Amino acid sequence: MADTPHEVLLSARKITKRFGGLAAVNGVSVDLWRGRIHAVIGPNGAGKSTLTNLLSGDLPPSDGAIHLGSTDVTGWASERISRQGLGRSYQKTNIFLPFSVHENVRLAAQSRDAQQPWNPLRWWRDTRRAGAHNRASSERVDRAIELAGLEARRDAIAGTMSHGEQRQLEIAMTLATEPQVLLLDEPLAGMGVAEAERMVQLLLRIKPGHAMMLVEHDMDAVFALADHLTVMVNGEAIASGTPPEVRADAKVQSAYLGE
Ligand code: ADP
Ligand code: MG
Repeated sequence: MADTPHEVLLSARKITKRFGGLAAVNGVSVDLWRGRIHAVIGPNGAGKSTLTNLLSGDLPPSDGAIHLGSTDVTGWASERISRQGLGRSYQKTNIFLPFSVHENVRLAAQSRDAQQPWNPLRWWRDTRRAGAHNRASSERVDRAIELAGLEARRDAIAGTMSHGEQRQLEIAMTLATEPQVLLLDEPLAGMGVAEAERMVQLLLRIKPGHAMMLVEHDMDAVFALADHLTVMVNGEAIASGTPPEVRADAKVQSAYLGE
């Protein structure tokens, strides 16, 4: 891949996911560019989370193709796609609450090369038994904590932190695996105004160097962050373009923004 500032890092072509008779995602195409944020909006049930799950390999597509860089990753399992450079956050949290920020991020970093989804207790035991500290991993951990704005909370126990800080921690854990492509499913969900603003600043900080897809309901955040916007309704992308283009689209106004 040429190292141009805005190369396409992920490209999905006409992907479809059928659950029985329902096409939860129906022929949707998405390009994610390095250094750009592609927001996906749409009403509940539109297929946004299913689209995220298809791109991450958590669900196999019924049809269509997905490329990461020049590699065809269609049908690959999520762990393999993750090792290829894709990171995602989950609406359901992966945080191990009794552990500190630093410990959670370190465990996430160490899981990068594991075959299984990370198991905190196993890694904790193995790390202690080995008694060794992996310097490369430790630098990655420090960088992820700093990018996520959690340096001052490094030793805080995750379970004692606010909802907003826990979402920051999730981002730090995702960054610790050094993904090039980031998929974030509603990172502002449940946040107050101040927390949401902190998350917007965090996402702007990590935007350079990453290709990001952001599923989000908070329209202020979407219009502050998105370079490109796709509107999904009933599994289909009814509009895609720059935010002003999409905002001016009559289909979008009647189907979504105007409701
Ligand atoms: P969104 O994230 O936009 O709210 P989802 O992707 O979660 O939408 O869901 C899209 C549609 O697919 C919904 O009708 C939902 O009920 C359905 N759906 C999602 N996951 C499954 C599943 N595992 N099995 C069957 N139907 C599903
Ligand atoms: Mg969803």
